[in-house]
Amino acid sequence: MTPGAVHRQTAERVRSAMVAAMRADPDRLNAGLLSCGGLDRPETDFVREARVLVLALAAALTTVLRGRGPYGDDLCLGCGIPDCRTVRAVGEALAAYQVSPVQLDRTEARIRSRE
Ligand SMILES: [Zn+2]
Repeated sequence: MTPGAVHRQTAERVRSAMVAAMRADPDRLNAGLLSCGGLDRPETDFVREARVLVLALAAALTTVLRGRGPYGDDLCLGCGIPDCRTVRAVGEALAAYQVSPVQLDRTEARIRSRE
């Protein structure tokens, strides 16, 4: 796979995690936590914070992935090269955890672009 393809695929996986977190309604998550019971405090706290954690981590990774070269090619913002070992490793980690690119329908894509 070319460095550009690795970069784009990694960015799509990060975006996928962000979209999944944005789709989850925090009020409904909290209501579900209150109604399900059986969870200890650490698990409840984790689920309550998971959405924000995913959004924060995805936003942080996005800042690294949004570098652009003089011809519009994708670069790692950290090291400034297109064939970044860190970007490749992040992509491999996301693939290992089966984070796949998500498909948005037109309506959702329009809504997300306004947010
Ligand atoms: Zn880099």
